[in-house]
Amino acid sequence: MTLGDLIRARIRETGPISLADYMTDCLLHPTMGYYTTRDPLGAKGDFTTAPEISQMFGELVGLALAQSWLDQGAPVPFTLAELGPGRGTLMADILRAGRAVPGFVQAADLVLIEASPALRARQAVTLGEYTPRWLDRIDELPNSPLFLVANEFFDALPVRQFLRDGAGWRERLVGLDHDELTFGLGPNSPQPGLEHRLADTRDGDLVEICPSAVPAISVVASRIAEHGGGALIFDYGDWRSLGDTLQALRGHQRAEVLADPGQADLTVHVDFEALAQAAAAAGCNHSRLTTQGVFLERLGITARAQSLARNLEGQALDELIAAHRRLTHPEEMGNLFKVLGLCPAQAALPPGLDS
Ligand code: SAH
Repeated sequence: MTLGDLIRARIRETGPISLADYMTDCLLHPTMGYYTTRDPLGAKGDFTTAPEISQMFGELVGLALAQSWLDQGAPVPFTLAELGPGRGTLMADILRAGRAVPGFVQAADLVLIEASPALRARQAVTLGEYTPRWLDRIDELPNSPLFLVANEFFDALPVRQFLRDGAGWRERLVGLDHDELTFGLGPNSPQPGLEHRLADTRDGDLVEICPSAVPAISVVASRIAEHGGGALIFDYGDWRSLGDTLQALRGHQRAEVLADPGQADLTVHVDFEALAQAAAAAGCNHSRLTTQGVFLERLGITARAQSLARNLEGQALDELIAAHRRLTHPEEMGNLFKVLGLCPAQAALPPGLDS
């Protein structure tokens, strides 16, 4: 039985399901979900990410977090956490760069929040020397100063989609047509969570909401507000999402969202306004939403690339130059990806960010 068979049987039994329910099954079904069963990253996988492109990304993020830790009086101990750490590459680069700041790595209680058993095993290999521990849920984050990073985590959280219809909304649902998965629309109903979108949308516009993003960021922000710390949230998306941003990626190519459930990565653009507002409601300051390119330039990625280049030649040098461009150039990841920083109300934002 495939995951597609299972989803079709469920829809036959109980009717059309929300896109969020569909995405949850596709990504995290305990035995057949996309993330649960594989390591999807890298050239042989389905997609790649900034830390997998170059060590420069994680090194600069590590130094930014360590600087924030110093700015806040170098609390000992503190929680160093990552949401959705993938292969553990980003955290390994953070910790290697963090060694330059005396006491930082020694004081860190390393906590990883990862849903996939396959990727937890991979992280255990990459990060074993730092004795990480894994939490199933974000609300299990310890009550201590928290320095946290998330890269391409929020884009993997399931969304619901709603089509504007007068003063109400019709939810986009996954149902069946001749036993094939197909998109349809639910009945018109008011959506209290979308009141604020009545002003900037018209009939027929589609908006997305991510039900699990706000609870997740609220926990992170309340730890930071209460105990100190900071967070850097990287993802693609914008201040406010508009339109259908759901995409399936398989073997680095776009794929059909409803074809072969569980076999492709499903991602959406992140609605950063929702994250920022939830963080503010929990008592944190948040930065202006900043493009990844500008952020990395402010942290000195070009100087870092130049210093790495001194020891390289031939193909390795070409790869370094390509990685620098890929991470920062406006036509590559530089503008599409954004970073949002969080800090306690009275503290300085992480370096590279402003309010
Ligand atoms: N941050 C990594 C990996 C990004 S892929 C990088 O930049 O390379 C998304 C990651 O989030 C994967 O590790 C995936 O297993 C994890 N993930 C997705 N949904 C999750 C959830 N609901 N809870 C915890 N981890 C999740």
